[in-house]
Amino acid sequence: MVSANQLDAITPSNHRLRCRDCGTVAAHSDWRCSACLGLLRLEWTKPTPGQRVDPTRSGVWHYRPLLPSVEPSAIVSLGEGATPLVWIDRWARAHAIERVGVKLEYVSPTGSFKDRGTTMLLSVARSLGLAKVVEDSSGNAGASVAAYAARAGLSATIYVPSSAPAAKRAQIARVGATIVPVDGPRSAVTEAALTDVDRTGAYYAGHNANPYFAAGMASFAYELIETFGAQLPRHLIVPTGGGSLVVGCFDGFLRWFGDSDEARRRCPRIHAVQSAGCAPLVAAFGRGLDHAPPIERRPTIAGGIEVERPPRDREILAAIRATGGSAVAVDDEEIRRERRLLAQSEGIDVEPTTAAAFAGLAQLVRDGVIRSDEVTLVVATGAGWKDPG
Ligand SMILES: [Zn+2]
Repeated sequence: MVSANQLDAITPSNHRLRCRDCGTVAAHSDWRCSACLGLLRLEWTKPTPGQRVDPTRSGVWHYRPLLPSVEPSAIVSLGEGATPLVWIDRWARAHAIERVGVKLEYVSPTGSFKDRGTTMLLSVARSLGLAKVVEDSSGNAGASVAAYAARAGLSATIYVPSSAPAAKRAQIARVGATIVPVDGPRSAVTEAALTDVDRTGAYYAGHNANPYFAAGMASFAYELIETFGAQLPRHLIVPTGGGSLVVGCFDGFLRWFGDSDEARRRCPRIHAVQSAGCAPLVAAFGRGLDHAPPIERRPTIAGGIEVERPPRDREILAAIRATGGSAVAVDDEEIRRERRLLAQSEGIDVEPTTAAAFAGLAQLVRDGVIRSDEVTLVVATGAGWKDPG
């Protein structure tokens, strides 16, 4: 056991941000490259520490030695992480599969998995002494950033699609953030947020672009490793729009195991599930592309994964391929059916975006991509009450 003070000595500034396109090193307060506007990757400047957990903390910050270092006094936490894991035997039997676990990520302070990324991002924002954050979101990340900004004493402006569920918009407003509805496709919401950032100099907390968000998501991988030890589930099913969890958790596995081919083989196979109405990653995966192509978008009830141009498309596709996973699309009717079945057979009430993952698993089993005797874990990303439908 080591004390928190000793951990501070282990983890002085342990990373830098580097442009994924031109290689320029960026300031910690940048969210994209000032030279070419490319997105930034977080690069570790120290090897993976031997001491991987902080025994004085629980949840996401239990893994503080593996996270980007911030001053302890700057940490903005609402008790996120350490989410429950349950097995859904009745649902699994209905789909002729033996062992399906669900990580209940909606058992989080704001009701979604986004809190893992937000606690990291807002802690960095506070340690940098920033006053205002701007975010664009279909709802869950916005609600998360709004709540953590309130906790940190920062002002937050959240741009949301005008079609965002009323429950999520109300959640954002209740914690005192400024909420700005935007008409048009999801990309128009991002453009409106970036215009605000350019005009006001606010910090862009965009969860699909800011590298610290995915860094917090790595805690999901650390929890799986601590829960399962050497016997990780064979498959991991993730509802995927912007892909922060796919990218963050893959990075987390490599950070823990070390970046090697052996480490990649130890990772669960990551399967990204999208809505058939908006499936750029499925199109890319099927066509063997390393980036998401332009797509025709149709309305879908899975608003949380309706991202027609995912900024981290290359990282998502690389993670899926490196682990031997796949990308699959499901339609709204299957999503509704699985949402109902999951609620009524297991008592697990998720939003439609999350139900898409269960529909995706059912399809992967039908297609023979996942065998019935392979242990599979589904990420239940968002609570049903956030998008009652
Ligand atoms: Zn660059």
